[in-house]
Amino acid sequence: MAPTAAEQHTRKAVGLAARDASGHLSPLAITRRSTGDDDVVIKILYCGICHSDLHSIKNDWKNAKYPMVPGHEITGEVNEVGKNVTKFKTGDRVGVGCMVNSCQSCESCNKGFENLCLGIIPTYNLVDLDGTITYGGYSSMVVVHERFVVRFPDTIPLEKGAPLLCAGITVYSPMKYHGLNIPGMHLGVLGLGGLGHVAVKFGKAFGMKVTVISSSPGKKQEALERLGADAFIVGKNDEEMKAAMSTMDGIINTVSANIPMAPLLGLLKPNGKMIMVGLPEKPMEIPPFALVATNKTLAGSLIGGMRDTQEMLDLAAKHNVTADIEVIGAEYVNTAMERLAKADVRYRFVIDIGNTLDKAAATTTE
Ligand code: NAP
Ligand code: ZN
Ligand code: ZN
Repeated sequence: MAPTAAEQHTRKAVGLAARDASGHLSPLAITRRSTGDDDVVIKILYCGICHSDLHSIKNDWKNAKYPMVPGHEITGEVNEVGKNVTKFKTGDRVGVGCMVNSCQSCESCNKGFENLCLGIIPTYNLVDLDGTITYGGYSSMVVVHERFVVRFPDTIPLEKGAPLLCAGITVYSPMKYHGLNIPGMHLGVLGLGGLGHVAVKFGKAFGMKVTVISSSPGKKQEALERLGADAFIVGKNDEEMKAAMSTMDGIINTVSANIPMAPLLGLLKPNGKMIMVGLPEKPMEIPPFALVATNKTLAGSLIGGMRDTQEMLDLAAKHNVTADIEVIGAEYVNTAMERLAKADVRYRFVIDIGNTLDKAAATTTE
C-alpha cells in the first residue's frame, strides 16, 4: 500500500509560525516529505521578508490557513537530491521563490509561466498535491520539485540575493513583458520598499530614466545617491506631482496600501501603462476618465515563471543587482514585521536562518 501523506512527512524541521491573525510568529516543529524522485532537499540559510508574508499572517487576504510558516525568498544549499534530478547536486547554491509546484502540463506551464497555472502551489499557505499545507522559508529546510528550484549565480551572496526570488522576479517580469525595459524610457517606481528598490536597480541596469514616487520624504537622498534613481517625487507634494504630469512611459506600482490612483495615473504619458504588483487589502477606485482620456493601460502582474526567474538572476549577476538588506536573527522577526508595517526598512529584512533559527527554536518550540 502506498504511504499516506502523513507517513511520507517524516523529516523533522522547525519553522516560525503564525497561529492566528495577530500574526505573531513563534517556533513550531514541522515535518517535510521524504525525498521524491524529482525532489531537491534544501538546507535553508536565508529567507527574505516580503510584505506578502505580512499580509498573509495578518489574514489581510482572508485566505489564511494556520499554523502558517511564511517565507518565499529562500536561499540555501542542496542537501540531497532524488534519483531523477539532473539540474542539481549536493552542495549547490540554490533558491526557491513563491511557488513549489504547478500542474506542469497546462498551456501556461508549457510556455514557462508556471506562475499563471491554475494549479499553482505557492510556497506556503496552500494545500499541496499530497494534501498537506505548504510551509515556507522561515524554516530550517524544504523539499521542492527541481523545476521550482533555481541555480544561484556564484557572484551573488545568498543573503543579498534572497529577495530577488520574489521582489526581483515580480518587478522584472512586468518590465520585460510590458516593454518597460528599454534604454531611454522613463520609468516611475511607486513605493520604495522591497519590490520598489529592486525595480529602481533593474530600471537603471536597463538604461532607463527612473523616478521614484514615494510617501516617505526621508528616502529621497538614498534613492538618488545610493540606489541611483534620477528623480524623487513625494506623492503628497502637489507641486512635485504637477511638474511630473504626463512624463512617464510606465509605472510599476508596488504600494501595499490603498491610495488614490487618479493622480498617479496622471503621471503617465498618453498610452502609458501602470502595472500593479502591490496587493492592497481593499478594492481600488479608478475614475474611468483617468484611464480612458489618454489611452492608458492598467495591468496586473503576478511574480514570474521559472525560466524568467533564472534569467532574472543571471541578469542581476551580470549587472550587479542585489537587494539592500538588513540581516536579522530569527528572534527579531516579530519586531521586523512591526517595522515593515510602517515602511521602516532599508529595504528588505532577510532572516539569517542558518545561524539563528535553531537557537531561537531551542528556547521556545511548541
Ligand atoms: P514593502 O517593502 O512594505 O514596500 C511597500 C512600499 O509601499 C513601502 O515601502 C512604501 O513606500 C509604500 N507604502 C506603504 N504603505 C503606504 C501608504 N499607506 N501610502 C503610500 N505608500 C505606502 O512591500 P513589498 O514587499 O515591496 O511588497 C509591496 C506589495 O507588493 C505588497 O502588497 C505585496 O503583497 C505585493 N507583492 C506582490 C507580488 C506579485 O506577484 N504581484 C509579489 C510580491 C509582493 P514609500 O515609503 O516609498 O512610500
Ligand atoms: Zn513576495
Ligand atoms: Zn499548469
